[in-house]
Amino acid sequence: MCPTAKMYLILFFCISEDKKFLKWIEKQDKWEEVSIMDEKNVPIRTYQVCNVLEPNQNNWLRTDWIPRSGAQRVYVEVKFTLRDCNSLPGVTGTCKETFNLYYHESNEDRESYIKESSFIKVDTVAADESFTQVDVGDRIMKLNTEVRDVKVTTRKGFYLAFQDVGACIALVSVRVFYKTCPLTIRNLATFPDTVTGADTSSLVEVRGSCVNQSEEREEPKMYCGADGEWLVPIGGCLCNPGYQEKSGTCKACSVGFYKAKSSDPGCSKCPPHSHSVRDGATVCDCHSGFFRADSDPPSMACTQPPSAPQQLISVVNETSVVLEWAPPRRLGGRSDTSYSLECLICQTGNYPRPGSGSGSHLCLPCGSDVLFSPGQTGLKTTRVVVSELRAHTHYTFIVHAHNGVSQASGAGAAQSVSVTLTTNQAAPSPVSFIQATDVTRHSLSLAWQQPDRPNGVILEYEVKFYEKDQRERSYRIMRTFSRSVDVTGLNPLTVYVFHVRARTAAGYGEFSAPFEFSTNSDPFPLIGEGVNSAFLLLSISGVGILLLISAAVFIISRRRSKYSKTKQDSEEEKHLNPGVKIYVDPFTYEDPDQAIHEFAKEIDVSSIHIERVIGMGEFGEVCSGRLRVQGKREIYVAIKSLKAGYSDKQRRDFLSEASIMGQFDHPNIIRLEGVVTRCKPLMIITEYMENGSLDAFLRKHDGQFTVIQLVGMLRGIASGMKYLSDMSYVHRDLAARNILVNSNLVCKVSDFGLSRVLEDDPEAAYTTRIPIRWTAPEAIAYRKFTTASDVWSYGIVMWEVVSYGERPYWDMNNQDVIKAMEEGYRLPAPMDCPVVLHQLMLDCWERERAERPTFSQILNMLDKLIRNPGTLRRTGGDRPTATMLESGVGSEVCVSVVPQVCMPEWSMCVWLQSIGLERYRDTLAAAGYTSLDSLLALTHQ
Ligand code: AMP
Repeated sequence: MCPTAKMYLILFFCISEDKKFLKWIEKQDKWEEVSIMDEKNVPIRTYQVCNVLEPNQNNWLRTDWIPRSGAQRVYVEVKFTLRDCNSLPGVTGTCKETFNLYYHESNEDRESYIKESSFIKVDTVAADESFTQVDVGDRIMKLNTEVRDVKVTTRKGFYLAFQDVGACIALVSVRVFYKTCPLTIRNLATFPDTVTGADTSSLVEVRGSCVNQSEEREEPKMYCGADGEWLVPIGGCLCNPGYQEKSGTCKACSVGFYKAKSSDPGCSKCPPHSHSVRDGATVCDCHSGFFRADSDPPSMACTQPPSAPQQLISVVNETSVVLEWAPPRRLGGRSDTSYSLECLICQTGNYPRPGSGSGSHLCLPCGSDVLFSPGQTGLKTTRVVVSELRAHTHYTFIVHAHNGVSQASGAGAAQSVSVTLTTNQAAPSPVSFIQATDVTRHSLSLAWQQPDRPNGVILEYEVKFYEKDQRERSYRIMRTFSRSVDVTGLNPLTVYVFHVRARTAAGYGEFSAPFEFSTNSDPFPLIGEGVNSAFLLLSISGVGILLLISAAVFIISRRRSKYSKTKQDSEEEKHLNPGVKIYVDPFTYEDPDQAIHEFAKEIDVSSIHIERVIGMGEFGEVCSGRLRVQGKREIYVAIKSLKAGYSDKQRRDFLSEASIMGQFDHPNIIRLEGVVTRCKPLMIITEYMENGSLDAFLRKHDGQFTVIQLVGMLRGIASGMKYLSDMSYVHRDLAARNILVNSNLVCKVSDFGLSRVLEDDPEAAYTTRIPIRWTAPEAIAYRKFTTASDVWSYGIVMWEVVSYGERPYWDMNNQDVIKAMEEGYRLPAPMDCPVVLHQLMLDCWERERAERPTFSQILNMLDKLIRNPGTLRRTGGDRPTATMLESGVGSEVCVSVVPQVCMPEWSMCVWLQSIGLERYRDTLAAAGYTSLDSLLALTHQ
């Protein structure tokens, strides 16, 4: 008998010569060591006892000390033979058929004497088999095998003992062993050979250790059962990165494969554009030119940075730019493309692209005040609005395309596209701070800072103020060139609200936030800085109730007598309430002097200093000079005088212009300073317009303005005309010659003399006084002068402006012009005229006057054009130039294209190109139309 794989033999006792491991100690001398033959006739040695005839037998046979060797439960297998008492004659009462098994635990391996009582009984052992006789010739032996187990936990070892109580026994072998759960590997953890527990039901918890090239996934554990079986495996290990499980071990991934994480199920083939050259790869290396971002999983293919963004387009709107582009052609196999924007401010005249070599130093990064919406970096969209740029400044914008591997690849300029552009003029930013000094009962001095972003040369400041109590129901406006103004005529002890705004060639900026200052009760300025509403409270608390009452009475009486203006929606409408203030025809007054004194201020001639003659008017010379009214600054004025020897009618007509002009108060209407009627010559004094009449001014500066500047002039005229139409005034002689221009290029409508003259003359439509070229057909035909006919004239003024003072219909005579109009001919677009402007002109020249736009609509349209100068870019002569095709960007709003095919003398060719019809040049030439003049004879048919 040999031990099983899971049983460990402690001792093996065979009572044979060669296998005697146990040292037996006979306690009583009844047990004998006897040699017998086994079933196979092999001689074996046994311990025998057979005192069946004598009663009360107590024969002990004890083993030597057996070391426990860590076992807690040992098994004792006894093989023996036993004689059947019935087969023995005369033994009744004394013969037994069992024996007892005992054990005694001890640390002592050499105990010579152990008391019987020290032994603990394991069991009484009976034979399964017995034999009746021993026949030496016919050897019949029945061998019994009995196994008993016993818990041995308290000492290092133990002794076994066999007690015979009167049987006939032969002990053939005693085998003592314990059980273990054998070494095993489960879930890549090795569990050692483990001795079972002390009790038959006990489980020994065993911790496993991970096999080579593996790591713990969860603590590996198993239980060793009492019968040597492993139970309930828990946790386990995983093969390290680069290794995969094979038959309970971890084997390296082979070339071309990788395993990135221990939790990955096994080795995988390298993803596209990557490879592994050694066994046990945890990641595959990218092929040359391909990259992997830190955040890319090893299972992802290696990728490339994107190519440059495409088709970068910029649209400049004053000081903002909309940049739009298309995604790169190659995304490099990734979907995380993002964009960043570089903003460079470049010096005038040379704006090299960064990295283009020499001269790149001329561009510097834009300041932090530039705003990018939705952002400057990490953009996922392909559109950015850049605002808060400087006006009239060259910028270069570089759009970079990035993706997750841009950094790893070290790619830079190759993935970007740039555009260079120039911002337009823009209205100034609001004035941010106003200060008041020299505060008295009736006046104060205001001073303010220039706006943070003037966006050009500040031409003028406008101060709007009103009594706080009045809100904006009634307000006054002052204009000044300096950053300060003296405000007079205020009520004492009154809180006033002030707003200031600046104007550049691009127009007015926003008004400042309200600043409140109070007048005081003192006739002289207070010492100190400004006076604000806090001071007002102090000053009010300082005066008596009586003073308050009298001040209130004073304020109310002043308010009643003062001319009130009503707040309107639009800027211009703020200057009046159109529903209330209507132009009053001075000719409705019986006494013309009454009208003049109602609407014009009489000026003392001594305050006028005439300097020089600047023009010739209908009634006499026009001079420039200076006017100094007491308490006011000296100003430059134009002085029109009525030449001597005038008739009553001439006097009346002359002064009527002042009576009309005196009713108007608008920045685009010539301002009447006053009249001199009390002495001769009679004079009309108006503000001085340095650049004279618009037609002559434009001719003098042919081609020198940008389209935006021209549109700015037109806007001013439209604004003045809207004002007049709101007041129900029909001008009847709107023409560039009747527009005056000041030093800031502000255009103002003037010459209010024609209205009466025409009405007085029933034949006027066909007299030379009729400005045929400027007049609407219905006004020429049946004197239907309306705001709509003024709109027609405005269209002609537009044409004059864009053509820099060209004469409408050139040298055509009036009759031909009238005929051409009737036949539907309209002036063509002047050279380089934006399509939208010519369309607006054509709208003004609609035959049906109801179809023509109103001045309000014209003004809105022009405002829109100024806000979106890109819309002015397309002219009739536009051709896609190389630059435009490349980047879609043009920094100039108007593009002039005169290709080689046009010789300078071919003015018709240039004109045809400007309206996009140059392909008809040859056809027209063949038909005999070689000049513009000849072309004018061309009818619709
Ligand atoms: P009028 O009689 O108003 O057409 O004026 C005749 C000319 O005098 C105009 O064509 C202008 O050149 C000049 N003129 C008239 N008013 C002014 C003014 N306020 N400022 C400057 N020049 C003026």
